[in-house]
Amino acid sequence: MAHIEINHDACTRCEVCLSVCPFGAMEMVNGNVMVNDQCRLCRICIDNCPVEAISMVESELEQSVNKEEYKGFTVIAEVENGVLHPVTLELIGKSNELCDSTSVIVVGYNLEDIVSQLCQYKVDKILVSDQKEAEYFDSQLYTYLIGNWIEYLKPSTVLVGATRMGRSLGPRLAARFETGLTADCTILDVRENGDLIQIRPAFGGNVMAQIVTLNHRPQFATVRPKMFSTPEKSYEGSEIERRKYPISDVSVFFDKVEPIPSVKDLSEAKRLVVLGLGAQNPVVIGLATQLADRIGASLAYTRPMIEKGYSDVHGQIGLSGRAVQPELMITIGVSGAIQFVTGIGQSERIIAINSDANAPIFGVSHVGIVGRAEDILPELLKQGGIL
Ligand SMILES: Cc1cc2nc3c(=O)[nH]c(=O)nc-3n(C[C@H](O)[C@H](O)[C@H](O)COP(=O)(O)OP(=O)(O)OC[C@H]3O[C@@H](n4cnc5c(N)ncnc54)[C@H](O)[C@@H]3O)c2cc1C
Ligand code: SF4
Ligand code: SF4
Repeated sequence: MAHIEINHDACTRCEVCLSVCPFGAMEMVNGNVMVNDQCRLCRICIDNCPVEAISMVESELEQSVNKEEYKGFTVIAEVENGVLHPVTLELIGKSNELCDSTSVIVVGYNLEDIVSQLCQYKVDKILVSDQKEAEYFDSQLYTYLIGNWIEYLKPSTVLVGATRMGRSLGPRLAARFETGLTADCTILDVRENGDLIQIRPAFGGNVMAQIVTLNHRPQFATVRPKMFSTPEKSYEGSEIERRKYPISDVSVFFDKVEPIPSVKDLSEAKRLVVLGLGAQNPVVIGLATQLADRIGASLAYTRPMIEKGYSDVHGQIGLSGRAVQPELMITIGVSGAIQFVTGIGQSERIIAINSDANAPIFGVSHVGIVGRAEDILPELLKQGGIL
Protein backbone atom coordinates (compact mmCIF):
# COMPACT_ATOMS: atom_id res chain seq x y z
CA MET A 1 0.00 0.00 0.00
CA ALA A 2 1.35 3.41 -0.92
CA HIS A 3 1.53 6.32 1.53
CA ILE A 4 2.46 10.01 1.56
CA GLU A 5 5.76 10.96 3.16
CA ILE A 6 6.92 14.46 4.18
CA ASN A 7 10.58 15.43 4.15
CA HIS A 8 10.55 17.56 7.31
CA ASP A 9 14.08 18.88 6.67
CA ALA A 10 13.06 20.29 3.28
CA CYS A 11 9.61 21.51 4.43
CA THR A 12 9.39 25.31 4.91
CA ARG A 13 6.05 25.09 6.85
CA CYS A 14 4.35 27.25 4.21
CA GLU A 15 1.11 25.26 4.77
CA VAL A 16 0.21 25.23 1.06
CA CYS A 17 -0.44 21.49 1.32
CA LEU A 18 -2.90 22.04 4.18
CA SER A 19 -4.90 24.44 2.06
CA VAL A 20 -4.95 22.37 -1.15
CA CYS A 21 -5.73 18.94 0.31
CA PRO A 22 -9.40 18.31 -0.60
CA PHE A 23 -9.83 15.75 2.17
CA GLY A 24 -8.41 17.63 5.18
CA ALA A 25 -5.73 14.97 5.43
CA MET A 26 -2.84 17.34 6.14
CA GLU A 27 -2.39 18.87 9.60
CA MET A 28 0.24 20.74 11.57
CA VAL A 29 1.26 18.72 14.63
CA ASN A 30 3.91 20.20 16.94
CA GLY A 31 5.25 22.38 14.12
CA ASN A 32 5.48 19.54 11.59
CA VAL A 33 3.17 18.68 8.69
CA MET A 34 1.58 15.27 9.25
CA VAL A 35 -0.74 13.16 7.07
CA ASN A 36 -3.77 11.66 8.79
CA ASP A 37 -5.94 8.69 7.87
CA GLN A 38 -8.22 10.76 5.60
CA CYS A 39 -5.56 10.72 2.87
CA ARG A 40 -6.87 9.31 -0.44
CA LEU A 41 -3.50 9.41 -2.23
CA CYS A 42 -4.80 11.94 -4.76
CA ARG A 43 -1.29 13.49 -5.13
CA ILE A 44 -2.60 17.08 -5.15
CA CYS A 45 -0.28 18.06 -2.27
CA ILE A 46 2.72 16.59 -4.13
CA ASP A 47 1.99 18.70 -7.19
CA ASN A 48 1.54 21.87 -5.10
CA CYS A 49 4.42 21.74 -2.63
CA PRO A 50 6.79 24.55 -3.72
CA VAL A 51 9.91 22.76 -2.43
CA GLU A 52 9.07 19.18 -3.44
CA ALA A 53 9.04 18.04 0.16
CA ILE A 54 6.18 15.59 -0.36
CA SER A 55 6.41 12.20 -2.04
CA MET A 56 4.37 9.06 -2.51
CA VAL A 57 6.10 5.93 -1.26
CA GLU A 58 5.04 2.64 -2.79
CA SER A 59 5.56 -0.26 -0.41
CA GLU A 60 6.57 -3.57 -1.91
CA LEU A 61 3.74 -6.04 -1.57
CA GLU A 62 4.42 -9.70 -1.35
CA GLN A 63 2.91 -11.45 -4.33
CA SER A 64 0.37 -13.84 -2.86
CA VAL A 65 0.04 -16.09 -5.90
CA ASN A 66 2.03 -17.07 -8.94
CA LYS A 67 0.13 -15.14 -11.62
CA GLU A 68 1.50 -17.43 -14.34
CA GLU A 69 -0.65 -20.27 -13.01
CA TYR A 70 -3.87 -18.35 -13.70
CA LYS A 71 -4.99 -18.18 -17.32
CA GLY A 72 -7.96 -17.01 -19.38
CA PHE A 73 -11.28 -15.43 -18.45
CA THR A 74 -14.25 -17.17 -16.87
CA VAL A 75 -17.79 -15.87 -17.07
CA ILE A 76 -20.32 -16.92 -14.44
CA ALA A 77 -23.56 -17.70 -16.28
CA GLU A 78 -26.74 -16.45 -14.68
CA VAL A 79 -29.84 -18.58 -15.06
CA GLU A 80 -33.19 -17.66 -13.55
CA ASN A 81 -36.32 -19.76 -13.99
CA GLY A 82 -34.63 -21.65 -16.81
CA VAL A 83 -33.72 -18.49 -18.74
CA LEU A 84 -30.16 -17.36 -19.47
CA HIS A 85 -29.67 -13.73 -18.42
CA PRO A 86 -28.46 -11.62 -21.41
CA VAL A 87 -25.59 -10.21 -19.33
CA THR A 88 -23.94 -13.64 -19.58
CA LEU A 89 -23.63 -13.27 -23.36
CA GLU A 90 -22.46 -9.65 -23.05
CA LEU A 91 -19.67 -10.80 -20.72
CA ILE A 92 -18.71 -13.65 -23.07
CA GLY A 93 -18.39 -11.09 -25.89
CA LYS A 94 -16.18 -8.79 -23.81
CA SER A 95 -14.08 -11.70 -22.57
CA ASN A 96 -13.39 -12.80 -26.15
CA GLU A 97 -12.29 -9.26 -26.99
CA LEU A 98 -9.78 -9.29 -24.14
CA CYS A 99 -8.35 -12.81 -24.10
CA ASP A 100 -7.84 -15.97 -26.15
CA SER A 101 -9.61 -18.38 -23.86
CA THR A 102 -13.09 -17.93 -22.42
CA SER A 103 -14.78 -20.45 -20.18
CA VAL A 104 -18.24 -20.31 -18.66
CA ILE A 105 -19.36 -21.82 -15.36
CA VAL A 106 -23.04 -22.60 -15.13
CA VAL A 107 -24.80 -24.08 -12.11
CA GLY A 108 -28.49 -24.83 -11.67
CA TYR A 109 -30.91 -27.59 -12.56
CA ASN A 110 -32.12 -28.93 -15.92
CA LEU A 111 -29.46 -26.99 -17.77
CA GLU A 112 -29.42 -28.78 -21.13
CA ASP A 113 -31.12 -25.91 -23.00
CA ILE A 114 -28.81 -23.39 -21.37
CA VAL A 115 -25.72 -25.39 -22.33
CA SER A 116 -26.99 -25.63 -25.94
CA GLN A 117 -27.46 -21.85 -26.01
CA LEU A 118 -23.96 -21.25 -24.66
CA CYS A 119 -22.53 -23.59 -27.30
CA GLN A 120 -23.74 -21.16 -29.98
CA TYR A 121 -21.12 -18.62 -28.89
CA LYS A 122 -17.33 -18.61 -28.86
CA VAL A 123 -16.72 -20.40 -25.56
CA ASP A 124 -13.78 -22.77 -25.16
CA LYS A 125 -15.03 -24.61 -22.09
CA ILE A 126 -18.40 -24.90 -20.40
CA LEU A 127 -18.26 -26.22 -16.84
CA VAL A 128 -21.61 -27.49 -15.67
CA SER A 129 -22.99 -28.42 -12.25
CA ASP A 130 -26.51 -29.57 -13.02
CA GLN A 131 -28.02 -30.72 -9.74
CA LYS A 132 -31.43 -30.55 -8.08
CA GLU A 133 -30.12 -28.74 -4.99
CA ALA A 134 -28.99 -25.85 -7.19
CA GLU A 135 -32.42 -25.31 -8.78
CA TYR A 136 -32.83 -21.97 -6.99
CA PHE A 137 -30.15 -19.40 -6.31
CA ASP A 138 -28.69 -19.52 -2.83
CA SER A 139 -25.56 -17.45 -2.26
CA GLN A 140 -23.90 -19.97 0.07
CA LEU A 141 -24.55 -22.98 -2.15
CA TYR A 142 -23.64 -21.20 -5.40
CA THR A 143 -20.45 -19.77 -3.87
CA TYR A 144 -19.47 -23.30 -2.90
CA LEU A 145 -20.24 -24.85 -6.31
CA ILE A 146 -18.81 -22.06 -8.46
CA GLY A 147 -15.84 -21.67 -6.10
CA ASN A 148 -14.97 -25.35 -6.64
CA TRP A 149 -14.93 -24.86 -10.40
CA ILE A 150 -12.78 -21.73 -10.10
CA GLU A 151 -10.34 -23.56 -7.86
CA TYR A 152 -10.08 -26.31 -10.49
CA LEU A 153 -9.90 -23.99 -13.50
CA LYS A 154 -7.64 -21.23 -12.11
CA PRO A 155 -8.81 -18.41 -14.40
CA SER A 156 -6.93 -15.13 -14.38
CA THR A 157 -10.19 -13.15 -14.41
CA VAL A 158 -13.76 -13.93 -13.39
CA LEU A 159 -16.58 -11.78 -14.80
CA VAL A 160 -19.93 -11.68 -13.03
CA GLY A 161 -23.09 -9.76 -14.02
CA ALA A 162 -23.89 -6.94 -11.60
CA THR A 163 -27.40 -8.27 -11.18
CA ARG A 164 -29.13 -9.15 -7.91
CA MET A 165 -27.57 -12.61 -8.08
CA GLY A 166 -24.14 -11.43 -9.21
CA ARG A 167 -23.93 -8.70 -6.58
CA SER A 168 -24.55 -11.29 -3.92
CA LEU A 169 -22.26 -13.92 -5.42
CA GLY A 170 -19.25 -11.88 -6.61
CA PRO A 171 -18.07 -10.57 -3.22
CA ARG A 172 -18.53 -13.98 -1.59
CA LEU A 173 -16.43 -15.65 -4.28
CA ALA A 174 -13.76 -12.94 -4.05
CA ALA A 175 -13.66 -13.39 -0.26
CA ARG A 176 -13.28 -17.15 -0.69
CA PHE A 177 -10.19 -16.59 -2.85
CA GLU A 178 -8.97 -13.67 -0.69
CA THR A 179 -8.68 -11.49 -3.74
CA GLY A 180 -10.00 -8.19 -5.08
CA LEU A 181 -13.34 -7.43 -6.71
CA THR A 182 -14.31 -4.27 -8.54
CA ALA A 183 -18.05 -3.72 -8.63
CA ASP A 184 -20.02 -2.16 -11.48
CA CYS A 185 -17.18 -1.75 -13.97
CA THR A 186 -18.12 0.26 -17.04
CA ILE A 187 -14.93 -0.34 -19.07
CA LEU A 188 -12.56 -3.32 -18.98
CA ASP A 189 -9.13 -3.66 -20.51
CA VAL A 190 -6.19 -5.93 -19.93
CA ARG A 191 -2.43 -5.44 -19.66
CA GLU A 192 0.04 -7.75 -21.37
CA ASN A 193 0.80 -9.43 -18.03
CA GLY A 194 -2.88 -10.29 -17.60
CA ASP A 195 -3.69 -7.55 -15.04
CA LEU A 196 -7.28 -6.52 -15.63
CA ILE A 197 -7.79 -2.76 -15.84
CA GLN A 198 -11.16 -2.22 -14.22
CA ILE A 199 -12.60 1.21 -14.90
CA ARG A 200 -15.62 2.59 -13.08
CA PRO A 201 -16.95 5.98 -12.04
CA ALA A 202 -15.89 7.06 -8.55
CA PHE A 203 -16.37 10.07 -6.25
CA GLY A 204 -19.94 10.55 -7.46
CA GLY A 205 -18.98 10.05 -11.09
CA ASN A 206 -16.50 12.94 -11.08
CA VAL A 207 -13.57 10.68 -11.94
CA MET A 208 -13.20 7.40 -13.78
CA ALA A 209 -11.12 5.23 -11.44
CA GLN A 210 -8.78 2.58 -12.84
CA ILE A 211 -8.51 -0.33 -10.45
CA VAL A 212 -5.99 -3.14 -10.82
CA THR A 213 -5.57 -6.28 -8.71
CA LEU A 214 -1.77 -6.41 -8.74
CA ASN A 215 -0.93 -9.22 -6.37
CA HIS A 216 -3.80 -11.65 -6.29
CA ARG A 217 -5.64 -13.98 -8.61
CA PRO A 218 -8.29 -14.50 -9.82
CA GLN A 219 -9.38 -10.92 -10.47
CA PHE A 220 -13.13 -10.49 -9.97
CA ALA A 221 -15.20 -7.82 -11.70
CA THR A 222 -18.94 -7.29 -11.83
CA VAL A 223 -20.46 -5.49 -14.81
CA ARG A 224 -23.98 -4.13 -15.10
CA PRO A 225 -26.21 -5.48 -17.90
CA LYS A 226 -26.12 -3.51 -21.18
CA MET A 227 -22.63 -2.13 -20.65
CA PHE A 228 -21.31 -4.35 -23.45
CA SER A 229 -22.88 -5.61 -26.67
CA THR A 230 -24.20 -9.12 -27.22
CA PRO A 231 -21.72 -10.96 -29.47
CA GLU A 232 -22.63 -12.58 -32.77
CA LYS A 233 -23.28 -16.31 -32.62
CA SER A 234 -20.21 -18.24 -33.76
CA TYR A 235 -20.17 -21.95 -33.13
CA GLU A 236 -16.61 -23.15 -32.80
CA GLY A 237 -17.14 -26.22 -30.63
CA SER A 238 -17.09 -25.91 -26.85
CA GLU A 239 -15.60 -28.52 -24.56
CA ILE A 240 -18.18 -29.42 -21.93
CA GLU A 241 -17.24 -30.75 -18.51
CA ARG A 242 -19.89 -31.84 -16.00
CA ARG A 243 -19.56 -32.40 -12.27
CA LYS A 244 -21.91 -32.72 -9.34
CA TYR A 245 -20.26 -31.60 -6.14
CA PRO A 246 -21.28 -33.19 -2.83
CA ILE A 247 -23.20 -30.63 -0.87
CA SER A 248 -23.41 -32.06 2.64
CA ASP A 249 -21.31 -29.18 4.03
CA VAL A 250 -23.69 -26.51 2.81
CA SER A 251 -26.50 -25.89 5.26
CA VAL A 252 -29.12 -23.77 3.46
CA PHE A 253 -31.38 -25.01 0.67
CA PHE A 254 -34.49 -23.63 -0.97
CA ASP A 255 -37.26 -26.08 -1.84
CA LYS A 256 -39.39 -23.59 -3.69
CA VAL A 257 -39.06 -19.96 -4.65
CA GLU A 258 -42.07 -17.81 -5.50
CA PRO A 259 -41.13 -15.46 -8.33
CA ILE A 260 -41.56 -11.77 -7.48
CA PRO A 261 -43.79 -10.12 -10.10
CA SER A 262 -41.32 -8.35 -12.33
CA VAL A 263 -41.42 -4.60 -12.87
CA LYS A 264 -41.11 -3.67 -16.55
CA ASP A 265 -37.39 -3.14 -16.88
CA LEU A 266 -36.15 -0.13 -18.83
CA SER A 267 -32.95 -1.94 -19.69
CA GLU A 268 -34.98 -4.25 -21.96
CA ALA A 269 -36.72 -1.40 -23.85
CA LYS A 270 -35.91 -1.13 -27.56
CA ARG A 271 -36.99 2.52 -27.79
CA LEU A 272 -36.82 5.22 -25.15
CA VAL A 273 -37.88 8.83 -24.84
CA VAL A 274 -35.90 10.36 -21.97
CA LEU A 275 -36.99 13.51 -20.21
CA GLY A 276 -34.61 15.82 -18.36
CA LEU A 277 -35.08 19.02 -16.40
CA GLY A 278 -35.43 20.97 -19.66
CA ALA A 279 -38.63 19.04 -20.38
CA GLN A 280 -40.60 19.95 -17.25
CA ASN A 281 -43.08 22.10 -19.10
CA PRO A 282 -46.46 20.23 -19.15
CA VAL A 283 -46.80 20.98 -22.87
CA VAL A 284 -43.43 19.32 -23.53
CA ILE A 285 -44.35 16.33 -21.37
CA GLY A 286 -47.60 15.94 -23.31
CA LEU A 287 -45.80 16.12 -26.66
CA ALA A 288 -43.09 13.72 -25.48
CA THR A 289 -45.71 11.22 -24.33
CA GLN A 290 -47.42 11.49 -27.72
CA LEU A 291 -44.07 10.91 -29.43
CA ALA A 292 -43.34 7.89 -27.23
CA ASP A 293 -46.77 6.39 -28.03
CA ARG A 294 -46.27 7.07 -31.73
CA ILE A 295 -42.94 5.22 -31.93
CA GLY A 296 -43.69 2.55 -29.31
CA ALA A 297 -41.13 3.87 -26.83
CA SER A 298 -41.06 3.78 -23.03
CA LEU A 299 -40.62 7.00 -21.09
CA ALA A 300 -37.53 7.36 -18.91
CA TYR A 301 -36.03 10.19 -16.86
CA THR A 302 -32.85 11.76 -15.52
CA ARG A 303 -32.29 11.60 -11.78
CA PRO A 304 -33.44 15.15 -10.98
CA MET A 305 -36.74 14.34 -12.71
CA ILE A 306 -37.15 11.29 -10.47
CA GLU A 307 -36.39 13.47 -7.44
CA LYS A 308 -39.12 15.83 -8.59
CA GLY A 309 -41.57 12.91 -8.64
CA TYR A 310 -42.10 12.42 -12.40
CA SER A 311 -41.59 8.65 -11.98
CA ASP A 312 -40.41 6.11 -9.43
CA VAL A 313 -36.78 4.92 -9.32
CA HIS A 314 -37.43 2.25 -11.95
CA GLY A 315 -37.70 5.03 -14.53
CA GLN A 316 -34.23 6.50 -13.91
CA ILE A 317 -31.33 6.11 -16.31
CA GLY A 318 -27.70 6.55 -15.32
CA LEU A 319 -25.02 5.72 -12.82
CA SER A 320 -27.43 5.31 -9.93
CA GLY A 321 -30.31 4.14 -12.15
CA ARG A 322 -30.64 1.70 -15.03
CA ALA A 323 -28.05 1.14 -17.76
CA VAL A 324 -29.84 0.92 -21.11
CA GLN A 325 -28.97 -0.15 -24.63
CA PRO A 326 -31.98 0.67 -26.83
CA GLU A 327 -32.02 0.75 -30.61
CA LEU A 328 -33.33 4.31 -30.45
CA MET A 329 -33.22 6.89 -27.68
CA ILE A 330 -34.58 10.44 -27.90
CA THR A 331 -33.43 12.71 -25.08
CA ILE A 332 -35.40 15.88 -24.44
CA GLY A 333 -33.98 18.62 -22.20
CA VAL A 334 -31.21 16.35 -20.91
CA SER A 335 -27.82 18.02 -20.42
CA GLY A 336 -25.75 14.82 -20.68
CA ALA A 337 -23.99 14.84 -17.29
CA ILE A 338 -21.40 12.07 -16.91
CA GLN A 339 -23.60 10.26 -14.37
CA PHE A 340 -26.38 10.09 -16.97
CA VAL A 341 -24.17 9.23 -19.94
CA THR A 342 -22.62 6.32 -18.02
CA GLY A 343 -25.95 4.53 -18.35
CA ILE A 344 -26.47 4.95 -22.11
CA GLY A 345 -23.08 3.96 -23.53
CA GLN A 346 -24.17 1.19 -25.91
CA SER A 347 -27.36 2.77 -27.29
CA GLU A 348 -27.48 2.35 -31.06
CA ARG A 349 -28.99 5.70 -32.07
CA ILE A 350 -29.31 8.71 -29.81
CA ILE A 351 -31.23 11.79 -30.92
CA ALA A 352 -30.78 14.72 -28.55
CA ILE A 353 -32.99 17.80 -28.33
CA ASN A 354 -31.54 20.62 -26.25
CA SER A 355 -31.77 24.41 -26.42
CA ASP A 356 -28.08 24.79 -25.52
CA ALA A 357 -25.76 24.09 -28.46
CA ASN A 358 -22.91 23.41 -26.00
CA ALA A 359 -24.77 20.80 -23.95
CA PRO A 360 -22.52 17.74 -23.37
CA ILE A 361 -25.29 15.43 -24.62
CA PHE A 362 -24.37 16.49 -28.17
CA GLY A 363 -20.96 14.89 -27.61
CA VAL A 364 -22.55 11.42 -27.36
CA SER A 365 -25.61 11.75 -29.59
CA HIS A 366 -25.77 10.61 -33.20
CA VAL A 367 -28.25 13.32 -34.19
CA GLY A 368 -28.37 16.63 -32.33
CA ILE A 369 -31.21 19.13 -32.60
CA VAL A 370 -30.55 22.54 -31.05
CA GLY A 371 -33.76 24.26 -30.08
CA ARG A 372 -36.54 24.47 -27.52
CA ALA A 373 -38.36 21.18 -27.07
CA GLU A 374 -41.74 22.92 -27.31
CA ASP A 375 -40.79 24.11 -30.83
CA ILE A 376 -39.02 20.95 -32.03
CA LEU A 377 -41.44 18.25 -30.84
CA PRO A 378 -44.49 19.43 -32.83
CA GLU A 379 -42.29 19.41 -35.96
CA LEU A 380 -41.04 15.91 -35.19
CA LEU A 381 -44.58 14.67 -34.62
CA LYS A 382 -45.67 16.23 -37.91
CA GLN A 383 -42.79 14.88 -39.99
CA GLY A 384 -41.59 11.76 -38.18
CA GLY A 385 -38.85 11.73 -40.84
CA ILE A 386 -35.72 11.22 -38.74
CA LEU A 387 -37.36 8.45 -36.73
C1 LIG B 1 -23.48 10.28 -7.19
C2 LIG B 1 -24.36 10.83 -8.27
C3 LIG B 1 -25.09 9.95 -9.04
C4 LIG B 1 -25.92 10.44 -10.04
N1 LIG B 1 -26.63 9.56 -10.79
C5 LIG B 1 -27.39 10.03 -11.79
C6 LIG B 1 -28.12 9.12 -12.61
O1 LIG B 1 -28.10 7.90 -12.43
N2 LIG B 1 -28.86 9.64 -13.62
C7 LIG B 1 -28.93 11.00 -13.87
O2 LIG B 1 -29.62 11.41 -14.81
N3 LIG B 1 -28.26 11.86 -13.09
C8 LIG B 1 -27.51 11.41 -12.05
N4 LIG B 1 -26.86 12.30 -11.28
C9 LIG B 1 -27.12 13.74 -11.49
C10 LIG B 1 -26.29 14.32 -12.63
O3 LIG B 1 -25.06 14.78 -12.11
C11 LIG B 1 -26.99 15.52 -13.29
O4 LIG B 1 -27.29 16.47 -12.30
C12 LIG B 1 -28.30 15.15 -14.00
O5 LIG B 1 -28.09 14.07 -14.89
C13 LIG B 1 -28.80 16.35 -14.79
O6 LIG B 1 -30.11 16.08 -15.18
P1 LIG B 1 -30.79 16.85 -16.38
O7 LIG B 1 -30.00 16.65 -17.63
O8 LIG B 1 -32.22 16.46 -16.38
O9 LIG B 1 -30.77 18.38 -15.90
P2 LIG B 1 -29.80 19.65 -16.32
O10 LIG B 1 -28.40 19.23 -16.15
O11 LIG B 1 -30.33 20.76 -15.54
O12 LIG B 1 -30.10 19.81 -17.85
C14 LIG B 1 -31.26 20.34 -18.38
C15 LIG B 1 -31.00 20.58 -19.86
O13 LIG B 1 -32.19 20.99 -20.48
C16 LIG B 1 -31.88 21.97 -21.46
N5 LIG B 1 -33.09 22.76 -21.67
C17 LIG B 1 -33.63 23.70 -20.87
N6 LIG B 1 -34.78 24.15 -21.39
C18 LIG B 1 -34.97 23.48 -22.55
C19 LIG B 1 -36.00 23.50 -23.54
N7 LIG B 1 -37.04 24.31 -23.44
N8 LIG B 1 -35.87 22.66 -24.59
C20 LIG B 1 -34.80 21.83 -24.73
N9 LIG B 1 -33.81 21.79 -23.81
C21 LIG B 1 -33.90 22.59 -22.73
C22 LIG B 1 -30.74 22.76 -20.87
O14 LIG B 1 -29.97 23.37 -21.88
C23 LIG B 1 -29.96 21.67 -20.12
O15 LIG B 1 -28.91 21.15 -20.92
C24 LIG B 1 -26.02 11.84 -10.27
C25 LIG B 1 -25.26 12.71 -9.50
C26 LIG B 1 -24.45 12.22 -8.51
C27 LIG B 1 -23.63 13.17 -7.69
S1 SF4 C 1 -2.35 12.89 -1.33
FE1 SF4 C 1 -4.25 14.05 -1.54
S2 SF4 C 1 -5.48 13.35 0.18
FE2 SF4 C 1 -3.38 12.74 0.63
S3 SF4 C 1 -2.59 14.41 1.82
FE3 SF4 C 1 -2.03 14.83 -0.29
S4 SF4 C 1 -3.69 16.15 -1.05
FE4 SF4 C 1 -4.41 15.20 0.84
S1 SF4 D 1 3.55 22.53 0.91
FE1 SF4 D 1 5.51 21.51 1.16
S2 SF4 D 1 6.79 23.06 2.13
FE2 SF4 D 1 4.70 23.76 2.37
S3 SF4 D 1 4.08 22.94 4.38
FE3 SF4 D 1 3.46 21.44 2.86
S4 SF4 D 1 5.17 20.02 2.77
FE4 SF4 D 1 5.93 21.84 3.76
